[in-house]
Amino acid sequence: MVNAPPDKPVFRFAPSPNGALHLGHARSAILNDIAARQSGGRLLLRMENIDLARCTPELEHRINEDLDWLGIKFDGPVRRQSDNFDYYRRGLSRLRELGLVYPSFTTRGELRQVVAIAEKEGRSWPRDPDGAPHPPASERTRSEEDWATLMATGRSYAWRLDMDAALERLGSEEITWNESRTLLDEPSVARFEVRQWGDVVLARKDTPTSYHLAVVMDDAMQAVTHIVRGRDLYAATAIHRLLQRLLDLPEPVYHHHALILDEEGRKLSKSAGSTALSTRRLSGQGAGKIKTLALSAREAVADFTLPKTSG
Ligand code: GLU
Repeated sequence: MVNAPPDKPVFRFAPSPNGALHLGHARSAILNDIAARQSGGRLLLRMENIDLARCTPELEHRINEDLDWLGIKFDGPVRRQSDNFDYYRRGLSRLRELGLVYPSFTTRGELRQVVAIAEKEGRSWPRDPDGAPHPPASERTRSEEDWATLMATGRSYAWRLDMDAALERLGSEEITWNESRTLLDEPSVARFEVRQWGDVVLARKDTPTSYHLAVVMDDAMQAVTHIVRGRDLYAATAIHRLLQRLLDLPEPVYHHHALILDEEGRKLSKSAGSTALSTRRLSGQGAGKIKTLALSAREAVADFTLPKTSG
């Protein structure tokens, strides 16, 4: 699963073609490009298209046009996650062999109901840093025979990481990584209480991977040494480091850049319908102006607690 460490830094831009790129994606792509050129390194492109229902070739095509327009050149062939499902299956099997995953049969709708009842009764329900509720603890204690019986009914399920077992295997509760505060500066050690994530989903019955599993396996396969991405993925880095340690994958250096705010002070997002780069491109805005805007736009700071770092 691991390629030999390269002698030059390797960066990557990894968009999901499930919607249009906006100015925030342009910032990530441009910063990766700057970092790769300044360090004499390489910049790779990866299409994170595991969600086959929402990711389309048209959206992928539009992303390629946007990146071309911004003048960003990538080294080597594009890696597409949909071509690598067997590779992710191998990672999941490894975690199964280690006894670190279990199938969880509670559907999203059922979980919503359980949480609503608990909260109505005044009981708090644990949620992960993105606000998603943890699964009921009862899911984790089924026997392998029960799994087989439930699977034979054809019900859908998700493979979840057994967080307790994973942390026990590591022999420590603390997850750390090397985080550069600004692009390419000396990193310091960031710490995050990974337990907050609970038993995260690593794959589903019909999709052999989740974002978390695919991203760490691909970064290892592509020998990525430096990850530059938005601060919305800062907390998720704890899961990524946990998986890297469980699967014996190398550790990259991270830089999570500030997120851009729109005119109303909201963070840009695909779901909120932030102006697409392609809309700006087709309405005649110049790529130079967009690059300046992507690097200088108003940033979100208040929502992000700066990492506790040391060293
Ligand atoms: N595919 C993710 C996104 O478009 C980015 C993943 C990453 O950079 O680790 O938000």
